[in-house]
Amino acid sequence: MKEFTCIVCPRGCRLKIDDQLNVTGNSCPRGAQYAKDEVTNPKRMITSIMRVKNRENCVVSVKTSNSIPKGKIFEVMEEINKVSVNAPTHIGDIAIKNVLGLDADIVITKNVK
Ligand code: SF4
Repeated sequence: MKEFTCIVCPRGCRLKIDDQLNVTGNSCPRGAQYAKDEVTNPKRMITSIMRVKNRENCVVSVKTSNSIPKGKIFEVMEEINKVSVNAPTHIGDIAIKNVLGLDADIVITKNVK
């Protein structure tokens, strides 16, 4: 039996999952899925920054559009570090499409004029 806190929403339900992947303590189905993913293939959203090449000392915040496998975080960070964008940027612009084939884009989360 494993226990952890659901991080899918602010309610923070205390989840328990047994070896047969039976989940208790969840208040909604998303928590059950989160618990199963956490023990079989844990995933995380990434937030980071990316260089803006046509502005001096300027970076823009970015995030993954979906959660990615925890074991791929450092490889995705390396991909983010390889790329720089040109201003202007807009919230929602895609900086990297389908990063490493993980079915997640790297999305800009800041407007830069
Ligand atoms: S189980 Fe559902 S209600 Fe509870 S924290 Fe997770 S997402 Fe929120």
